[in-house]
Amino acid sequence: MKENRIWENNEAVLEIWGTRGSLAVSGPEYTVYGGNTSCVSVRTSRRLLIFDAGTGIVGLGRRLAEEGFKGRADLFLSHVHLDHIQGLPAFPLLFCRDAELVIYGEERMGKNIEEQLNSVFTPPYWPVRLEQAPAKIRFQSLKEGERLELGDGIAVDTLRSAHPDRCLMMKVSAGRSCAVYATDCEMDRDFIPKAAAFAEGSRVIISDAQYGPEELEGKRGWGHSSWVQGNLLGRSCGAEQVIHTHFDWTADDECLRERESQAEKDWKGAVFAREGMKILL
Ligand SMILES: [Zn+2]
Ligand SMILES: [Zn+2]
Repeated sequence: MKENRIWENNEAVLEIWGTRGSLAVSGPEYTVYGGNTSCVSVRTSRRLLIFDAGTGIVGLGRRLAEEGFKGRADLFLSHVHLDHIQGLPAFPLLFCRDAELVIYGEERMGKNIEEQLNSVFTPPYWPVRLEQAPAKIRFQSLKEGERLELGDGIAVDTLRSAHPDRCLMMKVSAGRSCAVYATDCEMDRDFIPKAAAFAEGSRVIISDAQYGPEELEGKRGWGHSSWVQGNLLGRSCGAEQVIHTHFDWTADDECLRERESQAEKDWKGAVFAREGMKILL
């Protein structure tokens, strides 16, 4: 009932399916914030957009299967580091004949996104190829600085982030709703104003907080940030909320609770992502 009202208002719901960076983890010390790697969905009454296909995408796929989802989903890959594609071959939507999956990604090292994924999901690294999936799969190239109009009032803009092997930051606009997905980015003082201009008008920002602020000095050039940079970005662009995510596997619940309380003290808009978190945009 509540969701029907959301749809009538042409608003969007963002949901977090994976909160980890680099590596999935499991165990009693990871139950609060979650152990799956990056995946976020944005749904409106007409469309389903997915950002990254880390192991979290499997939970999203299970939910879609329970709902009997048929039709099109648009999957945007920020880059093809393993933690962002690991869940793709087990994504339940791939096994649904009535589903259509459009996969967007940037060309890298002379290979388009289809060729990049095919070079990983193929024997001997994986027993089946994506083209063997029953779902209809299409691929589309994404470019830095591009605006993609998807129809139904939805658009996705991209910005180059600061990360080894390249990565794209993405802004999704759906009617009056707007959010930025910005994991895998080493935000320094020069980059934050650029990211803030890109994120202008976004109520919510999903931001890379792989490390604690005290760890950053030793991780220069690794392509990640802490909650300090995310809070700066949120304040700079007037966002209401920054959802910090992409946590390192060494950060257990106790560590993340402590970091989250520091981040909240610094700025009231800070929150740490938890799997299953749902936000009305
Ligand atoms: Zn990552
Ligand atoms: Zn990465």
